[in-house]
Amino acid sequence: MLLKIALFAVIIFLIYIFFFKNSRKEEIKKNASKRVLEGETMVECQACSTFISHKEAIIKDGLFFCSKECARLP
Ligand SMILES: [Zn+2]
Repeated sequence: MLLKIALFAVIIFLIYIFFFKNSRKEEIKKNASKRVLEGETMVECQACSTFISHKEAIIKDGLFFCSKECARLP
């Protein structure tokens, strides 16, 4: 009987640890994605001085452009 209670306690403890770990992971993930979003740098188009996000920018000869027209790409 005592063994059963101990086993039950261990199972509860393991379940608790499992969920706690998962929620921690989710929190870390959330923080990581938040950091990426905050870390998104804005760059200035060399042709028209428009600010665009680093991801959307077209890089040509090491310079940032907002569009193909500005970068004069074919
Ligand atoms: Zn531009």
